[in-house]
Amino acid sequence: EGARKDASRVEVAAKIGIEYKKEVDFPKWYQQVLTRSEMLDYYDVSGCYILRPWAYKIWQEIQQYIDHEIEEIGVENSYFPMSIPAKNLEKEKEHIAGFAAEVAWVTKAGSSNLDEPLAIRPTSETAMYPYYAKWVRSHRDLPLRLNQWCSVVRWEFKNPQPFLRNREFLWQEGHTAFATKAEADLEVEQILETYRQVYEGLLAVPVIKGIKSDKEKFAGGLYTTSLEGYIPTTGRGIQAATSHSLGQNFAKMFDISYEDPQGPLANGDSRPALHAWQNSWGFSTRSLGVMIMVHGDDKGLVLPPRVAAVQVVIIPCGMNAKVSDEDRLSVDRRLAKVLTLLKKADIRARVDNRDNYSVGFKFNHWELRGVPVRLELGPKDVRNNQIMAARRDNGAKIALQQTTLVSEVRDLLDIIQRDMFNHAKEIRDANVVFIEEWKDFMPALDKKQLCLIPWCEESDCEDRIKEKSSRSGHTATEDHNEKAPSMGAKSLCIPMDQPVDKKIIQGETKCVSCGKDAKRWALFGRSY
Ligand code: AMP
Ligand code: ZN
Repeated sequence: EGARKDASRVEVAAKIGIEYKKEVDFPKWYQQVLTRSEMLDYYDVSGCYILRPWAYKIWQEIQQYIDHEIEEIGVENSYFPMSIPAKNLEKEKEHIAGFAAEVAWVTKAGSSNLDEPLAIRPTSETAMYPYYAKWVRSHRDLPLRLNQWCSVVRWEFKNPQPFLRNREFLWQEGHTAFATKAEADLEVEQILETYRQVYEGLLAVPVIKGIKSDKEKFAGGLYTTSLEGYIPTTGRGIQAATSHSLGQNFAKMFDISYEDPQGPLANGDSRPALHAWQNSWGFSTRSLGVMIMVHGDDKGLVLPPRVAAVQVVIIPCGMNAKVSDEDRLSVDRRLAKVLTLLKKADIRARVDNRDNYSVGFKFNHWELRGVPVRLELGPKDVRNNQIMAARRDNGAKIALQQTTLVSEVRDLLDIIQRDMFNHAKEIRDANVVFIEEWKDFMPALDKKQLCLIPWCEESDCEDRIKEKSSRSGHTATEDHNEKAPSMGAKSLCIPMDQPVDKKIIQGETKCVSCGKDAKRWALFGRSY
């Protein structure tokens, strides 16, 4: 009877596992990992998704980290309304040109048409800056540095993808104004570094810092810096976060200006007003998708310890019918003690003592959800004062001593965090290749690699590269499908860390694509 029950439990466990292989059917694997791990669920509006607690907790860890970092440098949180009057949205011409196609509008209230349609913010420059203009009167009102956590709506027509490309997504958007370009530039850099720390330190995902090409920079901005990630399974790059310098464009359009502190000229005439230098920067829930794609495996999620809602799950083992009441009691006591110790040390631990589930079922349950460490505790372990630990990332098992448990678990979590990053970085590094002749470009893309090329940095050349790389050897119908491997390559960024041992010689090194003089190494690839 017991054996039969166990067998049916194993069956249930198999059904809640992942049926698709990551390397074989990546899109289905991704969907199933997301839904079965209870990270996310699909919603009745295409491109909109429900973030369930298992994902939201990770988002909160990220929020906490970013909030702390930006507060340190003087940014404060605030909140602006989600509706933007049409006349404000349309003030900065390049900006609206860049976003127009994706803006969702409210045109009705009940059954009556609104006099003035309202845009739902796709980003909040045009919601905030009219008020920045009002609040900035003198140089003493600068810097003005606000951030908000909110959702934005971009009704994109590209294929929606959970986390990566949503029509509504959560993010933070920082919007700042300074008196000088130097201060603004410094912040662009500091924020990008904070974002790098979130990806590399918290999510264990390696990223490349860079500057966007003119074609890819933020609509209406001066220059855009970004982090670029890499999804090995598809060989595609992904824009992981962006920190934009807006220059003075928006300040001029919205009149964010102040009197020159030098006062009037000698002849009594007033000096022209000065315009603020502005930045905007955003980090979205896309990051969760990148983390899942990079680390997940055929058993499901693999969560980096620093952000996992549960870092350690403790499962009582070997509790078969032959175990005496006394042993049961001692295991229960030890479980409670271990839990208390770990919690006291700020380790997010949980005991799974549901007695209507088999051990195997529980193992699968927590593996699917990506919990970094599983502790197994049975009567024998209590007697030996030890506890078995299993790592989610590589399956390794280690015997821990009861007396040094807390420090051993803490070390183990740190090691897992580090190993996950190093592992992902090794793979990423191996797939970013130097391409010095065009003939090697397509083969590299087809090997799912990203290409570093000496590049002229001209927009026409970028268009040409996209064209050339989407056509070759593929049918026309495939070309129009973003999902097809024939999708063209675009510039991801011009890496800030240019290779030191492979110098571009000005006037000598030529662009790999067009043959004009190359300026810098640029990262190209298929992308999300
Ligand atoms: P942007 O204001 O366009 O620079 O966006 C800031 C960041 O949000 C980007 O770097 C992306 O990582 C992320 N992002 C942009 N569009 C989406 C989207 N549709 N869904 C999720 N994240 C997005
Ligand atoms: Zn070129």
